[in-house]
Amino acid sequence: MKAIVVREFGAPNVMKIEDVPEPAPGPGQVTIRVHAVGVNPVDTYIRSGAYARIPNLPYTPGTDVGGVVQAIGPHVTRLRVGDRVYGHAVVGGYAEVALCEDWQAHPLPVNVSFQQGAAIGVPYATAWRALLMRAQARPRESVLVHGASGGVGIASVQIARAHGMHVIGTAGSADGIALVHKQGAHHVLNHRDADYLKRIPSLAGGAGVDVVLEMLANVNLDHDLDVLAPHGRIVVIGNRGRIEIDPRKAMGRDGTILGMTLFNVTRPDLEEIHAGLGAGLENGSLNPVIGKELPLGDAAKAHVAVMESGALGKIVLVP
Ligand code: NAP
Repeated sequence: MKAIVVREFGAPNVMKIEDVPEPAPGPGQVTIRVHAVGVNPVDTYIRSGAYARIPNLPYTPGTDVGGVVQAIGPHVTRLRVGDRVYGHAVVGGYAEVALCEDWQAHPLPVNVSFQQGAAIGVPYATAWRALLMRAQARPRESVLVHGASGGVGIASVQIARAHGMHVIGTAGSADGIALVHKQGAHHVLNHRDADYLKRIPSLAGGAGVDVVLEMLANVNLDHDLDVLAPHGRIVVIGNRGRIEIDPRKAMGRDGTILGMTLFNVTRPDLEEIHAGLGAGLENGSLNPVIGKELPLGDAAKAHVAVMESGALGKIVLVP
C-alpha cells in the first residue's frame, strides 16, 4: 500500500510517499481503509523532531482518519468489516490503511463524510475536553474561543453552542470571520484588529467572559486575563513561545489558568468524549468543516499550509 514515511526528522519534505506492507490487526485491533486523514499542527511539531513525544524512526504520521473497517483481529466484537468509522489515535494514518485498537474506531453516521470523519479526532476531542472537562463550562456561561477559525476552534464553537453557551469567536481574516459566524458564534472579532479585546466584556454581558479557550497563549494569555469575568477559567490549548503575564489580574478575579494536552486524557474520559461527539454528529449539532483537501502525496504542502494563518477549517489528505 502507499504510505507517507518519515525516515529522518526535519522539514516537510522529509515526508516521502512509499510502498510499504499493509498492517495486519492483532487481538483487539482493526485496520481501517483510509478515505481521508486529518492534518494537525502537532503532526508538524513531531515531524520536525522538536517535540516532547517523538516516535522511533521510520514512522508514518497521522492519527485521525475517516474510512471503513478493512479487517478485524481476534476478539473484536464491536465492529464488522465494512463499517463506516472515524478513527482517533490510529497508528500511521497518512496511508491507504491504518491500524488501531477497536475502541479507537467510532461509528461514522451516514450524514458525515469520510473527510469530515478525518476532522474529528484531535480537534473535537481537544475542544470537548478543554471546554467541558477542564473548564467545566455550563449552559448560559460565555465562552471566548480565541482562534475559532481552525480545527479546534470550529469544534469549540459548535460544542459550546450545542451546550447552550454564549459564544464569542475570533479569526484573522474576513473569510474566517464569516466561517465562524456560520458555525453559530454569537459574535466574531478579528484578532488582528487593534482594540478588538476592548469589545469583549460588553459582548459578554459586562463582566467579561466566563471561559477562554486559548489557541495562541504566547500572544494572548495576559490579554485573556483582562477580559476574564470573576471566577473565570482560561484553558491553554495552543502555545508557541513564552509570555510575561501579570498574575495580579488572576488574583483579583479568582481566575484560573488551566493547561491541557490531549495526550493526558484517560481512556474512560475518551470513551465519554466520543459518546458525546457521536451524539452531536448524529443530530447535526456537530458538523466538521473541511477547508482544504489534498492528495496524500502532498503531505508536505499540507504541513506548510497548517502552520500558515488564514485558517478555514480542517486540512485533510486523501489517499
Ligand atoms: P489550526 O487549524 O491551524 O488553527 C489555528 C487557529 O489559531 C486559527 O483559528 C487561527 O486564526 C488562530 N490564530 C492565529 N493567530 C491568532 C492570534 N493572534 N490569536 C488567536 N488565535 C490566532 O490549528 P488547530 O488544530 O485549531 O490548533 C490550534 C492550536 O492548538 C495549535 O497550536 C495546536 O498545536 C494546538 N493544539 C493543542 C492541543 C492540546 O492537546 N493542547 C490539541 C490540538 C491542538 P487565523 O488563521 O484566522 O488567524
